[in-house]
Order: sequence, then C-alpha cells, then structure tokens
Amino acid sequence: MKYSGFKVIKEALTGHRGWGPAWRSPEPCSEYDYVVIGGGGHGLATAYYLAKEFKQSRIAVLEKGWIGGGNVGRNTTIIRSNYLLDGNEPFYEFSLKLWEGLEKELNYNAMVSQRGILNLIHSDAQRDAFVRRGNAMLLNGADADLLSKEQIQKRYPFLNTENARFPVKGGLAQHRGGTVRHDAVAWGYARAADSYGVDIIQNCEVTGFKIEKGVCLGVETTKGFIKAKTVGACVAGSSSRLMQMAGMRLPIESHVLQAFVSEGLKPLLPGVITFGAGHFYCSQSDKGGLVFGGDIDGYNSYAQRGNLPVVEDVCEGGMAIFPMLGRVRLLRMWGGIMDMSMDGSPIIDKTDISGLYFNGGWCYGGFKATPASGWVYAHLLATKEPHKTARSFRFDRFSKGLMIDEKGMGNQPNLH
Ligand SMILES: Cc1cc2nc3c(=O)[nH]c(=O)nc-3n(C[C@H](O)[C@H](O)[C@H](O)COP(=O)(O)OP(=O)(O)OC[C@H]3O[C@@H](n4cnc5c(N)ncnc54)[C@H](O)[C@@H]3O)c2cc1C
Repeated sequence: MKYSGFKVIKEALTGHRGWGPAWRSPEPCSEYDYVVIGGGGHGLATAYYLAKEFKQSRIAVLEKGWIGGGNVGRNTTIIRSNYLLDGNEPFYEFSLKLWEGLEKELNYNAMVSQRGILNLIHSDAQRDAFVRRGNAMLLNGADADLLSKEQIQKRYPFLNTENARFPVKGGLAQHRGGTVRHDAVAWGYARAADSYGVDIIQNCEVTGFKIEKGVCLGVETTKGFIKAKTVGACVAGSSSRLMQMAGMRLPIESHVLQAFVSEGLKPLLPGVITFGAGHFYCSQSDKGGLVFGGDIDGYNSYAQRGNLPVVEDVCEGGMAIFPMLGRVRLLRMWGGIMDMSMDGSPIIDKTDISGLYFNGGWCYGGFKATPASGWVYAHLLATKEPHKTARSFRFDRFSKGLMIDEKGMGNQPNLH
C-alpha cells in the first residue's frame, strides 16, 4: 500500500477503513539465509538494504521486545555529520546523504528536518579545534560554517553569550544537520523491509548461539531454534550480553543515557544547539517541547532508566546557556542503554566465528548512523567485505593501536 496525500484525503472521507497493517507479524521459519538479531533502527535498516540493495532473500529480524522499544525510539533525534577523523567523517556524511532521500525511498514520513546544528565555541582553543573539524568536514564533502559571536547573537538572541564562565565566542554550524522523528525511522524501515519479504519477528529473544567447530549454525530463541547461514548481531546496548553467549568479551561497556522533554512552547529554537563548555544539547520538537540531553549516568547498567543527580546536572548545563529554561516545566524523561566502545567509535566486523557478524559500539551517536550502518552492514553480510566507508570499524583496531578516538563525540571511558 503506497502512502500519499491523496490516500490520506481518501481515507479521511471514507472512515479510515482502507489502512492495512504496516508490516506482517509472521511466525519464524525453521531456516533463513540471514538472521539479523535486534529490531532497532540498525537491524531493520540492515534487513531492508540486504533485500533491496543486495538482492538477498530469506531474511529475518529477531526482536526480543517490540519494534522501536530500544534506543531507536529513545534518543534525542539529532542527525549530523560533523566529525573530524578520517575513519568517521566519510561514513557519517554517507549517512546524512541517505537521510536526505530516506522518506522518498521508504515512502514514509519520518519527519526528516534539516533545521541545522550549532556547536557553541567558548574559548580560543576550542575555536581552533572547531576550525580544524570544519575543514575536515569540508574536505569530505560535508557542509560547515564558522559563525561569529555577532551572527550567533542575531540568530539566537535568547542565548547567554556573556556568561562570565562560559562566554560564547562563536560556533560551528552544520546547516544540513537536524532532527528526525526517531520511532518513525524504525516503523519506516520495518514497513519497507516487510514489503521486500523480510520476516520481522517481535517478542522473539535470542537466548544462545549454536556454534560447532568454529561455525555459527543458527540461534536459540524463545520461539525455538532457527537455522541460519549468516547471523548479524545488532543489539546496541545489549551487545556485551548477547556476544557473551557466543563466548566473546567485547571492548564495550553499557551505560545509561537520559533524554528530557519540556512542556510545549511556541516556536523558539530554530535548530539544534550544543553547549561546548558543559554537556548539554537541545532542539525543539514539532509539538513544541524542548528535547534535550547531556552526560551519561556514569555507572554501568542495562536498565532503561536513569537517576536524579544527572537530571540536575543536565538542567544546570542548560541553565548556564539558556537561562530562560528555569521557567520551563520538565514534562518527562527516560533512559536508554548505550553501548560505549573504548574509543568512542563503532565496530562493524566479522567475528572469529564463521558466519557470525557484529555491529555495535555506537555510544551516544548511533541514531544519525542508522541508514549508513544498515547499508554497510548489509554490504558486509552479503559480500563478506567491508564497505569503503566502514573499513576502519574493525575489532582488531584495539589490538593494533589504530583507535578512532574522536574527541567529544561520545564516550570518555576513562571517566567512567
Ligand atoms: C537518551 C538517548 C539519546 C540519544 N540521542 C542520540 C542523538 O541525538 N543522535 C544520535 O545519533 N544518537 C543518539 N542516541 C544513540 C542512538 O539512539 C543509538 O546509538 C542507536 O539507536 C542504537 O542502534 P539501534 O537503533 O539499532 O538500537 P536499539 O533500538 O536499541 O535496537 C537494539 C534492539 O535489540 C534488541 N535486543 C537486545 N537483545 C536482544 C536479544 N537477545 N534478542 C533479540 N533482540 C534483542 C533490543 O530489544 C532492541 O530493540 C541516543 C541514545 C539515547 C539512549
């Protein structure tokens, strides 16, 4: 069923009786060519690109809960490609380009809104670092714009640019960055993958792997054993727990990260703003709520809930730069589990077990990576070769000392 403006009007006039389910709910088959574990954004995107771009079939996505119940439906919805390092920037720019055409491609309104992202600069040293990053972005075909303090004051008059401790000295803007409605991304990919025959099986937890003589033969699940030629793990915050079942210990820790939404306000924030001296980032949703976040909770956990001291810490960061926030009521907040890798960058690689592949270590930043992560992981699963933008995301970079240690892009494991 194709979605269109015409269809919406037709259904509105005929009692909304023509809408079908967006995807099927099949029972699992006993065998697949590809089993993708985890029905988050990355798992669903992987299945979709496997079917669409790599013309593969007999694909299943196994999700222990429901589609959109993990981090894909819990994040602060920011997309951008403002990275510095060679291992990262081409990949995130590839992702941003995929976001730009995604709604048309999926025939789904994911509310991709390129309202821009602004990183505030608070010291001369930080300006030097941002200029360097902006140049790296331009060299990789991304957009970057260095704004002066005066330009920022004009565009964002509500910012406390004269803060005694954290004066604003400028900012690095990426005008193509922005926000996307997070759970709609999961639904859009699920619907599109289903239309290519992918089985999306919810309430089906993987509880073990069948591995014989170094070969993965399939997965044990709460719905029975499922044989598979290729198994792709893609469970974000649950990565260490899942891979432990295959006897692997990962360079990944799981931490809680919280997100916050205020009461609805009139349009106020034109785009995403990040505070460079503390840790605070904020955008305004189409419903009017300010959507913001800050640091991780600082202890290892698999619980999807956070603690109160971090609420105070994040709101303090917000108040330092947006003093007007003090008058706004906080409506709700929630937590998600972050798979923090030890250099802040992801891993998309084969494992030592034949037929078993891994995708994880996304830290704070996996939502913006969703389309590219799905594409390059599908490339790896289908061709057994890494995609050119993801060649550095290997396991052995830790043993070889080839870390992609992107400062300020997520994790600082030494602090937690
Ligand atoms: C509060 C918060 C704010 C964030 N903000 C941003 C942001 O603004 N921008 C950005 O780029 N990123 C952000 N992120 C990070 C981003 O959301 C994640 O990196 C990304 O969503 C992870 O990939 P995913 O969507 O596939 O994960 P998930 O949606 O978590 O998918 C993994 C799935 O695996 C399933 N699973 C786990 N174990 C099993 C099992 N044994 N069997 C079967 N299924 C299993 C889970 O139920 C889950 O549905 C944020 C994260 C949080 C928590």
